[in-house]
Amino acid sequence: MAEQDCIFSKIVKGEIPAQKVYEDEAVLAFLDINPISDGHTLVIPKQKYEKLDECPAEVLGQLASKLGKIAQAVAAATGCDGYNVLCNNGRAAGQLIDYVHFHIIPRNEGDGVFHRWPHFQYPTGKIEEIAAKIRENIK
Ligand code: 5GP
Repeated sequence: MAEQDCIFSKIVKGEIPAQKVYEDEAVLAFLDINPISDGHTLVIPKQKYEKLDECPAEVLGQLASKLGKIAQAVAAATGCDGYNVLCNNGRAAGQLIDYVHFHIIPRNEGDGVFHRWPHFQYPTGKIEEIAAKIRENIK
């Protein structure tokens, strides 16, 4: 999608409205328009990258250094029992907007959103095999 058509680029430029909760020279946080819970917040870099792995380290550093501060404010404002920080990458992972963003999702005991996602045990030898492949691919 061309950058000028991207919803989050338009929010950064002030071309469409958003409930902004934090802004500095590199980072913007605003409320999700279709929240999972009250206070569901999106945190984005002002410069557009589609996925986490495309973000330069400097940009990720700027984002990461503000995530905790914004999460603390969301938690204090909503009085939630906990929160999730999620970053969906790719359609298979649920990414709908191709502009890297972190969700801060306030959670409360028994809210039924999700508790633990499905998990399984590796067959013998598989965990070492996968770890070795990932190590080989670290650039
Ligand atoms: P994704 O599934 O890509 O991780 O999440 C995209 C999020 O952006 C969704 O939770 C969706 O509700 C939110 N969203 C989509 N369009 C808009 C919009 O125009 N304004 C705001 N504030 N949030 C939006």
